[in-house]
Amino acid sequence: MKPSETLLEIDLKALEHNYRFLAAKVKENVKKMAVIKAFAYGSDSVTLAKKLEALGVDYFAVAYTQEGIDLREDGITQPILVLHPQSTHFQEIIDHCLIPSIYSEFVLNHFITSAEENQQHDYPIHLKLNTGLNRLGFDPEEAPMILEKLKQTSSTKVDGIFSHFAASEDPKEKEFTQHQMDTFKKVSEKIIAHLGYAPLRHLCNTSGILNYPEAHFDMVRTGIGLYGYGNSKEIDQQLIPIGTLKTIISQIHHIKKGESVGYNRMFKATKDTKIATLPLGHADGINRIYGKQKTHVSVNKHLAPIIGNVCMDMIMIDISGIDCEEGDEVILFGKEKSAEDFAHNAGTISYELITSISQRVKRKIIP
Ligand SMILES: *Cc1c(COP(=O)(O)O)cnc(C)c1O
Repeated sequence: MKPSETLLEIDLKALEHNYRFLAAKVKENVKKMAVIKAFAYGSDSVTLAKKLEALGVDYFAVAYTQEGIDLREDGITQPILVLHPQSTHFQEIIDHCLIPSIYSEFVLNHFITSAEENQQHDYPIHLKLNTGLNRLGFDPEEAPMILEKLKQTSSTKVDGIFSHFAASEDPKEKEFTQHQMDTFKKVSEKIIAHLGYAPLRHLCNTSGILNYPEAHFDMVRTGIGLYGYGNSKEIDQQLIPIGTLKTIISQIHHIKKGESVGYNRMFKATKDTKIATLPLGHADGINRIYGKQKTHVSVNKHLAPIIGNVCMDMIMIDISGIDCEEGDEVILFGKEKSAEDFAHNAGTISYELITSISQRVKRKIIP
């Protein structure tokens, strides 16, 4: 059946395939955390969380507090780690039984105060260590300070200790990654020795799972792999993209040599050209970087370049020589046409493309 508008189809069988593929890469006793921040990488976080819960995921992770609240309000009961909370959110974190990532002395102080004010006992937190990414996290020298503060309160308990790789997908950075691993091991062991109990240690993202089996520790965190992309051609062949972005041809024009197309007259026809207008644009997440013939869409299995400047609600494509008519389906990316290639041709990565598909685009779940 032809679609009647722009749709992002989300295939839950593909999700199941990817989950099982990744789960098979770790030992059975290693827990699985599904990273479903940013609307589950631009798909649908609640629907995916429910499916992943049924598949046996142990933990979820989101970036911001509100994302965790949204999951709780839709009935998700598994533990949810908030990777990047602010100290002003701690009341909401506690009210919704979310686990805060504690990444600095400032947030540690504030969280202990909130937990004590709420008469909490052993409220779970995950300590985030900075092992070289230099983004969020305690530096190794701060370990004694963390331990000292934790010793003085019974309001919280360390449920996890984690860190994040800077370049786990890049074989050229193996040495750096190894150094991150060693630092994580050393600092976490020191903390655990003083705590007297063993929190879950987790370090690997998707590429870490695939490239560094020695770094799986007690839990792994997977995002992009669940959605069907693995940061390498070889892995991409074994995963299935869960999202397919499709639309339709709104109108076809036949333009003459010398005529222009779109804003700023960015495309100029060097010969008579058949073009089509599609109902999606930069407000839907197809940013201007994808225009000017940088990328192609698929029309009846033929590739057609996006020409001229991407508009807010429309793009134009060159369909010269392609047998098609108004109302026909057009595929931007998906199973047969990788979002990684689409993104790469415009100088970006699948992560950015798929998380940018805006909330205006209707999601259609394929069970
Ligand atoms: C986003 C994120 C992940 C997921 O990474 P993928 O490469 O998508 O698997 C894991 N851990 C942290 C801390 C993150 O911010």
